[in-house]
Amino acid sequence: MNAPLNIAMPAEASAAPKTYRLLIGGKHVDARDGRTLERNSPGHGFTVSRYAQAGEAEVEAAMQAAHRAFETGPWPRMKAAERAALLHKAADLIEARLEDIARLDALESGKPIAQARGEIGGAVDIWRYAASLARTLHGESYANLGDAMLGVVLREPIGVVSIITPWNFPFLIVSQKLPFALAAGCTAVVKPSEMTSASTFVLGDILIEAGLPAGVVNILAGLGSDVGAPMVSHPLVEMVSFTGSTRVGKMTMASAAQSLKKVSMELGGKNGQIVFPDADLEAAADAAVFGGFFNAGECCNAGSRLIVHEAIADDFLAAVKALTAKVTVGDPLDDRTKVGAMISSDHLAKVTGYVTAAASDGSSVYSGGKQLASNAGQYLDPTIIRGVTDDMAIAREEVFGPVLSVLTFESIEKALHIANNTPYGLSAGVWSASIDTCMSVARGVRSGTVWVNTFMEGYPELPFGGYKQSGLGRELGKRAVEDYTEEKTIQFHRGQRTGWWVG
Ligand code: NAD
Repeated sequence: MNAPLNIAMPAEASAAPKTYRLLIGGKHVDARDGRTLERNSPGHGFTVSRYAQAGEAEVEAAMQAAHRAFETGPWPRMKAAERAALLHKAADLIEARLEDIARLDALESGKPIAQARGEIGGAVDIWRYAASLARTLHGESYANLGDAMLGVVLREPIGVVSIITPWNFPFLIVSQKLPFALAAGCTAVVKPSEMTSASTFVLGDILIEAGLPAGVVNILAGLGSDVGAPMVSHPLVEMVSFTGSTRVGKMTMASAAQSLKKVSMELGGKNGQIVFPDADLEAAADAAVFGGFFNAGECCNAGSRLIVHEAIADDFLAAVKALTAKVTVGDPLDDRTKVGAMISSDHLAKVTGYVTAAASDGSSVYSGGKQLASNAGQYLDPTIIRGVTDDMAIAREEVFGPVLSVLTFESIEKALHIANNTPYGLSAGVWSASIDTCMSVARGVRSGTVWVNTFMEGYPELPFGGYKQSGLGRELGKRAVEDYTEEKTIQFHRGQRTGWWVG
């Protein structure tokens, strides 16, 4: 029996929780009915933040502000160079406040501080990438339609965008959406998760400091039912950019369909890493542990299924287990921590419920499987489950915790069958020294991203999104700004009318 985790209480624990007000029309405001939401640090157990809690009245006010800013404000009308300059300034301000923002995300989500710093650094890079794309956005012209006709295709900002984000990468995910919408000239209403809203409010302050005109970005804290749902159905919204679970994504899409809004959906995943005997097995074992336990497995891209060739399974899994034993679980604010706290006790119970059900389905817990004793917060031991078959719930459903399910194969066809036998299609990994094997898997897997001899890397230049029930559309990449535009075709006719109809 290990000693209980000893979680040190940070200075914030003895101070009053930080408070955040809604951002509507360039002003910080409380909810009209005075309601607030509190967030406890899942790693420490004290109240870290208090936000004004929006409701119907605040959604209406935010939509009106965003609509006004779009219809009559300067933002959609200014030169792309001016928008780019502001996005660059915002990136610089984010960079200057990187440590504060990382600490807020670590405190509210339970993720390790060192990892949070990496995420905010990645977000800075994305804001700069979006700034550069603002100036390259352009339409097309057609001078090949005959002497009397010139066709011009404009790219215009789509309008007011509702942006709804989850709790697992609070600052990074809003940064995969908002700067591109802004680069296009859109205005936005943003709703972060009710559990991790603080860093999005800091982003609001940064945008004001950078000089963003009032009403261009409005930020609401609140529940999905009170705030998220009306942000999707509201008649002034032209596009909904949603990241979250497949379940809520489907509801969101059904609601958006009532008024035929454009949707962008980044949803769940059940990703497999396939390991062949000829791979660099040391590197593959490290990536298996990283894929399974990064962000405590609370990650859409988690490599939650380890699909290993039977010939190497025993030795390879022994290496994975030995590496897992070295993973430091504990205080999110400790620089050495690799796996922090679980987001909530309800979620922890859901994850351990999957582990229990897998055992009764016939698989066995090879490592971990239990909540760790601690003086504060909630922590789960990184868990490996062997003997999983692809009909079990643990192999098909998104567990969203530090739980690695191991399946085995004896042929490449079987490996591909297992990898594809889920409703999801977000990402996958393949480990082999053979280019033939890597290419066969990369071409055969039905997912939006495939990593070959690496895992879970990301670059703003590369599009990201899911096949099947993992989503709709792509974020990032060179077309990311275009996603927030409409195309307008203009046909210029010159000279005598041609093709008289009546005469
Ligand atoms: P969630 O679906 O419960 O919530 C996501 C957001 O939607 C939250 O802000 C929530 O308040 C809001 N919401 C809830 N009900 C709503 C409704 N009826 N209408 C509108 N909005 C509503 O997801 P979560 O638990 O916060 O996040 C975890 C999920 O997100 C996982 O499934 C994970 O795979 C997914 N995710 C996907 C990606 C990706 O890029 N594909 C990235 C991160 C997370």
